Amino acid sequence: MVQVRSLARYLEAFAPLAYQESYDNAGLIVGDPDMEVTGVLVSLDATETVIDEAIAKGCNVVVAHHPIVFKGLKKLNGRNYVERTVIKAIRNDVAVYAAHTNLDNVAGGVNFKIAEKLGLQQVRILAPKTQILSKLVVFVPDNDLQAVLSAIYDAGAGRIGTYEHCSFRVGGTGSFKPLDGANPTVGEIGRDETVGEHRLEVILPAYLESSVVAAMQKAHSYEVPAYDLYPLNNANQEVGSGAIGELPEAMNLQDWLGYLKGQMQLNVIRYTPWRGTPIKRIAVCGGVGSFLLNDAVRAGADVFVTADYKYHEFFDADGRIVICDIGHYESEVFTKDLIAQHLSKQFRTFAVILSDTVTNPVQYFT
Ligand SMILES: [Zn+2]
Repeated sequence: MVQVRSLARYLEAFAPLAYQESYDNAGLIVGDPDMEVTGVLVSLDATETVIDEAIAKGCNVVVAHHPIVFKGLKKLNGRNYVERTVIKAIRNDVAVYAAHTNLDNVAGGVNFKIAEKLGLQQVRILAPKTQILSKLVVFVPDNDLQAVLSAIYDAGAGRIGTYEHCSFRVGGTGSFKPLDGANPTVGEIGRDETVGEHRLEVILPAYLESSVVAAMQKAHSYEVPAYDLYPLNNANQEVGSGAIGELPEAMNLQDWLGYLKGQMQLNVIRYTPWRGTPIKRIAVCGGVGSFLLNDAVRAGADVFVTADYKYHEFFDADGRIVICDIGHYESEVFTKDLIAQHLSKQFRTFAVILSDTVTNPVQYFT
């Protein structure tokens, strides 16, 4: 049997909670981590109707993109839809989990799903995040080298893009003098000692610092291993906002709009004037994306597909790019497929079902 905890751990290995934005509330929002999973209903939003659907379909976990609870709840008396949803979930032992901006921010996440729907090629993160990587330098006696390497690799260090087990080492001499109270693996109290050691360097995600250091210390034979942790300014190309890629063939505006409408199953597209050049490079950002406009322009995108644009923000296109606002729900609804595909790959003992509830609060009168 699979517990809610293992389900969360699996989702978070792909979309670590450390990569959510500061305002977000991703993770297990309602429910007991030790509860056994009977079925998972995947939805864009976790509303009351979705909780009802989960109960009717025998699912005791709802995995949604948007967190039902964003800010602190001071009372739980059912006065609004957030409180009613939480109450219903608790009463019926339904766990509610959200993979939100952490799923937006990883390669293969929400924006890569949009890129896939649009058939884009050479897809990469539009605005990679900086200051989320660290460097560990540890001084390792020759005999410990392999054990320390495997321990820190297993803990998640040494991954760069599509490579793992990345490290650098150079041999040298370590020196130390054990003082009273020490219990040295090598050498004697009060005597200067020199030992053949390696200076071993690996890169790691900053959020894994404590687990990588703990793994290193466990595998290292010294009582007090010497190591340095450095914050890095390098961008992590695998983590960040938006995505960008290329259409296989350039299109004119008319064809592009028709294609976009069909692929994303849209009712309406709000867009800015075209500068006339062929459309080939496409930037995307599910949900609110106006903060990425300049990144999209800098990256040479012809079009920026996103949502939640306000009237005055449309002017910022300024002939440099075509903004296509396709609606928040419409831009992210295929996130359901992304989550369900990911879960189905790993878990076979319970059903993973796509919610039939249309949670879009916006209707179109056409
Ligand atoms: Zn959203």
